[in-house]
Amino acid sequence: LNSVLSGLPTTIFEEMSRRARETGAVNLGQGFPDDPGPADVREAAARAVLEGWNQYPPMLGLPELRAAIAAHYARWQGLVLDPEREIMVTSGATEAIAGALMAILEPGDEVVLFAPMYDAYLPLVRRAGGVPRVVTLQPPLFGLDEAALEAVFSERTKAVLFNDPLNPTATVFSDADRALLARYCVRHDAIAICDEVWEHVIFDGRRHRSLMNEEGMRERTVKIGSAGKIFNLTGWKVGFVSAAAPLLGTLAKAHQFLTFTTPPNLQAAVAYGLGKDDAYFEGLRADLQRSRDRFCDGLAGLGFSVIPAAGTYFVNVDIGARGEDDVSFCRRLVSEHGVAAIPVSAFYPGGEVTNVVRFCFAKRDATLDAALERMRGV
Ligand code: GLN
Repeated sequence: LNSVLSGLPTTIFEEMSRRARETGAVNLGQGFPDDPGPADVREAAARAVLEGWNQYPPMLGLPELRAAIAAHYARWQGLVLDPEREIMVTSGATEAIAGALMAILEPGDEVVLFAPMYDAYLPLVRRAGGVPRVVTLQPPLFGLDEAALEAVFSERTKAVLFNDPLNPTATVFSDADRALLARYCVRHDAIAICDEVWEHVIFDGRRHRSLMNEEGMRERTVKIGSAGKIFNLTGWKVGFVSAAAPLLGTLAKAHQFLTFTTPPNLQAAVAYGLGKDDAYFEGLRADLQRSRDRFCDGLAGLGFSVIPAAGTYFVNVDIGARGEDDVSFCRRLVSEHGVAAIPVSAFYPGGEVTNVVRFCFAKRDATLDAALERMRGV
């Protein structure tokens, strides 16, 4: 019993949000916006509930939503996907990642990962029987290099788990990085599981490009997206997977025994939302970019060394010069100053980086200003 009870760790997001609730802190830890999300998308969900979209939808997802996802990716990323055979709806991107690993891995298969990484990845890879091979990305660019890939890819490599834009660093991989990784995936016949949930949350005029667009990757990429991040509705847990038909068929086998389906009313609302005009998506970026700039200026004004943020809801500060590690800084920040943040060492399996702290800026101006005010003199 003891070995079971002491198994998996508690995620840092749960820990910090609990501390924030207990202490009444401004929560800039776990990444969720405090605006209510687009009213028309929420109304579409409410209507769907009232009109009776409440029984099990098809296992792969509502046909309306799968068609909307295909149209959306054709419009925004130049991808041609068959909505009937190449798209599946999941209960959040995390289910999609877990299911993909369960479907693809046999015990002992190696999986290439990049640190810092979202804290769910490693436990999921291990639980699926995979052997992690981790590349540690170096600040400030957190880019790829050939020697690092050469060191981790082998004939045992079955999959790569790749997150772009990258949480927590808020960086975006370069065209050269994607081309390099694609070359290694093709050379080693590896499947790329691509967590692209931040595909719409990129700033300064950038445009997301999927690893799936790279040469040789169309048939070996599992592209994962999330409505939560596209509509600022993170609790909805509507994710979607795009992959070539044979691969998607395999992933669907895992999905049928995991959650089987995802609430149809939310699926209907997401189908509506994905069809919104370009102005909505440009507006999402513009609003978040404005929040980013407001918060980064505030942090810089408090003397923090801010690491530039190209995408995601997050910005990082380097606290190296302050003589305190990230965990103790975050504990002090929440208990003495009433602001919750995330120590980035939680994203490094070996805890090898301890000088970076992540803040979520996807908040109303008043929330950001209140947090900055509390951080005075920290
Ligand atoms: N994706 C969110 C973040 O990075 C956390 C989600 C969760 O709490 N598991 O902050």
